[in-house]
Amino acid sequence: MAGTLHTATRTKPVTDPGHGDAFTDHMVSLEWTPERQWTRPVLLPLADIAMHPGTVGLHYGQVAFEGLKAHRQPDGSMAVFRPWDNACRFRRSAARLAMPELPDELFVAAIDDLVRHDEGWLSDNPSHSLYLRPLMYGDERTLMLRPSRTYRFLLMAFVTGGFFGDNVDAVSVWVAHEHPRAFPGGTGDVKIAGNYAPAFNAQQQAQAAGCQQVIWLDATEGEWVEEMGGMNLFFVRGHGPRAEVVTPRLSGTLLPGVTRDTLLTLAARLGMTAREESVGLRQWRKECLDGGITEVFACGTAAVVTPVGQVRDRDGDWTIGDGTPGPVTRALRTALLDLHHGIAPDPDGWMHHIH
Ligand SMILES: *Cc1c(COP(=O)(O)O)cnc(C)c1O
Repeated sequence: MAGTLHTATRTKPVTDPGHGDAFTDHMVSLEWTPERQWTRPVLLPLADIAMHPGTVGLHYGQVAFEGLKAHRQPDGSMAVFRPWDNACRFRRSAARLAMPELPDELFVAAIDDLVRHDEGWLSDNPSHSLYLRPLMYGDERTLMLRPSRTYRFLLMAFVTGGFFGDNVDAVSVWVAHEHPRAFPGGTGDVKIAGNYAPAFNAQQQAQAAGCQQVIWLDATEGEWVEEMGGMNLFFVRGHGPRAEVVTPRLSGTLLPGVTRDTLLTLAARLGMTAREESVGLRQWRKECLDGGITEVFACGTAAVVTPVGQVRDRDGDWTIGDGTPGPVTRALRTALLDLHHGIAPDPDGWMHHIH
């Protein structure tokens, strides 16, 4: 149970959630010191935080985060999708940055508390969900180049309708050759703040080229397709229930997405062959031209399943299928949304019900 240092506020359902700024009005806070370790979670009104200008996290990037969602269930209750998996990944991210690991039980207790208090911000619109953002940073005041000796964990939430809207238009993608997102031995496989700002200029270049998203290639050969923006990628070969879905192997430079892992299971359950296999950029183009690859989609918590329609590359552009969302992509998206919203059975126990 969290502390009760909060004032009850009136919640007003958000009807137009926007894209990441429709915050609810509470946050959960924990602190870590070497003497006391982690404090218990405390629920607070969402408010600005005072920060010393010489805070370690701000200067040296000792900052890790997570992203997961809570969904309204048919009986009106709330359920969070696979929070224990995010808790585990959050510990790995923290350890990579020499930060203390938050025990999974505290991570999930913080989530239970915030969802319980702020679920009233969700309107009845079934396509809306509560996006949860856990964050941890080194908050010691020192500019010594060493790990912080104290840490703060914050959990906040906002109402979301899916990052690319509720309808599933295919996106166009631009292949980034100049600045790779991740490299062997780097931090591409953990969710830390420092991975994202360096990707912003590729995102701007993609937009300048008329594309919505960036395709990341491996840093060594510049040939193997790794991810799309902040999402994992899937390639579809063939059609219908006999289709084969392939996602790049976790080579140490890809973020191991919870959605990616979930879709590998759901595809197999729908009778498809689901495999992990590296896909080259030239192979991707060739197989689209000869009809081998029939669909491509990206997946992640924020935007769920997003079809890819067009690829723009320095050596020429190509279209995937007829450029519109394909049937395998749509079937997997529906299967995932049905699971999230408690419409499909949950044999793996992925739904964490809030009581
Ligand atoms: C968060 C993230 C993903 C998706 O992970 P999920 O657990 O499915 O939300 C994929 N790639 C990157 C780079 C990410 O940051």
